Amino acid sequence: MCRYFADNGYFAGTGGNIGVRVDNRLMAVTPSATDYYSVRAEDVVILDIETLDVVEGEKTPTIEKGLHARMLRMHPGRNASVHTHQPIASAVALLHEILPWPRGSDLKTLGPHVALIPYKPSGTGMLAKAFAKALRPDIFAYLLASHGVICAGADLKTATGMIRKIEAASAIHLRDRIKKRVNLDKQLQAFILNILDKAETKGA
Ligand SMILES: [Zn+2]
Repeated sequence: MCRYFADNGYFAGTGGNIGVRVDNRLMAVTPSATDYYSVRAEDVVILDIETLDVVEGEKTPTIEKGLHARMLRMHPGRNASVHTHQPIASAVALLHEILPWPRGSDLKTLGPHVALIPYKPSGTGMLAKAFAKALRPDIFAYLLASHGVICAGADLKTATGMIRKIEAASAIHLRDRIKKRVNLDKQLQAFILNILDKAETKGA
């Protein structure tokens, strides 16, 4: 899955990570700062979901392990948590606003909207705390302000589908915002919309 996300531009470099529930006590996470094209199965780290102690694995776990643990603890029915730096949603995350789902979306699975976590530096306890404070049992997807995205799905496949839906919703939202900027120079507007189109077709 990491390679899929890297291939499709959702993981930039070593940015982005995954947490998957193993059972009600353990979760598997991606290793910290590892090239996803050379990662091996034994590099996956198994952690205690409550204490974050390493139970198995030689590598250092992802610095965002606290986010994944909190996400999985809040949503017992969801077993996969994915954090990305995907381009269009990360651009929306710079606006520090919630992201609406497009009309007709399955809100039961997706939650009412993509919520916003206030900016804190990545990989810090401050970010994990801000995330814990904003987490809601009925919200499964979050923008991390000026950083990226995190969402939880029933399994990795569902979470991957949500990641793609967040990117598509972000493109719709941004395009709408750009078109509503009536004061924006027409040439500049066309230029920005063109960049957005390109970013969208580059994704999966
Ligand atoms: Zn990140």
